[in-house]
Amino acid sequence: MVRTSLCVQGSPVKNSHHIAHLRNVWYTNDRTKHFEFEIENGSEFDYQPGQFISMDVQIDGEACVRSYSVASSPHHDNRFDLCLNIVPHGLVSPWLFHLEPGDAIRFQGPFGLFTLRQPLDPVSVFIATGTGIAPIRAMLQYVYQEPQPAEVWLLFGVRHEADILYRGEFEKMARENPGFHFVPTLSRPHPGWTGHTGYVQKQITRYLSGKRGIHAYVCGLKKMVNDVCQQLQAMGYDEAALSFEKYD
Ligand SMILES: Cc1cc2nc3c(=O)[nH]c(=O)nc-3n(C[C@H](O)[C@H](O)[C@H](O)COP(=O)(O)OP(=O)(O)OC[C@H]3O[C@@H](n4cnc5c(N)ncnc54)[C@H](O)[C@@H]3O)c2cc1C
Repeated sequence: MVRTSLCVQGSPVKNSHHIAHLRNVWYTNDRTKHFEFEIENGSEFDYQPGQFISMDVQIDGEACVRSYSVASSPHHDNRFDLCLNIVPHGLVSPWLFHLEPGDAIRFQGPFGLFTLRQPLDPVSVFIATGTGIAPIRAMLQYVYQEPQPAEVWLLFGVRHEADILYRGEFEKMARENPGFHFVPTLSRPHPGWTGHTGYVQKQITRYLSGKRGIHAYVCGLKKMVNDVCQQLQAMGYDEAALSFEKYD
């Protein structure tokens, strides 16, 4: 198993600081926002899809450090996206939700080893819940910059239909790439929903039994990540076939 994040929350890591300005921001649902930043002075941001930044924020005179996965594939310029949800009673995420275009953030990075294996394995499986989709969006954008013969699955677990972040992008990817299988699954579906229901674990049993040459990339809160990794191992997949990023 690839223990992927280089843990920096709360502990400073030596790396050059960057200043970035918010260019665009919008709600993707009532608790989640998509942010588009540009690094000051046009400096190129050199990172690998799946990596994260470590943001330094001053709140009431107190220094806080929080990690956020980059949600876009490298543009080879100074732009990058983030996707984050507001944590009720959280310290930093509510502060970030008040940012407006033109506001600046300070961060270090990139960090992290939750990155794509190259070349891709014959079957690549991406499993996310909630904003765990952020680094996976970056990876999938990268994978589908060119036609991709490998079999690729995205199992995305959310509560409600409105929580299927970047749904249009993933549906387009599935239309354009026959090897890409997009499986959104709702834990609290409304009565008219005709798609998959239940947790991602249910879809793992349904779609991922008996695959050869698999590598799974799992991202989200630790309970889901632990459950999914245990389930995949119980299904016979080697722990070397698992990469994961835990948000808490
Ligand atoms: C490597 C890494 C990458 C991360 N990338 C992202 C990202 O792309 N998007 C993102 O929204 N968050 C991400 N996080 C989580 C983020 O760093 C913060 O923990 C989160 O924004 C809460 O900070 P806070 O100060 O508001 O809450 P705090 O005051 O620190 O409260 C922490 C509480 O928030 C919970 N929590 C942490 N993250 C989430 C979450 N995403 N959803 C719900 N509850 C959460 C924890 O379980 C804990 O109970 C990442 C964390 C790590 C370690």
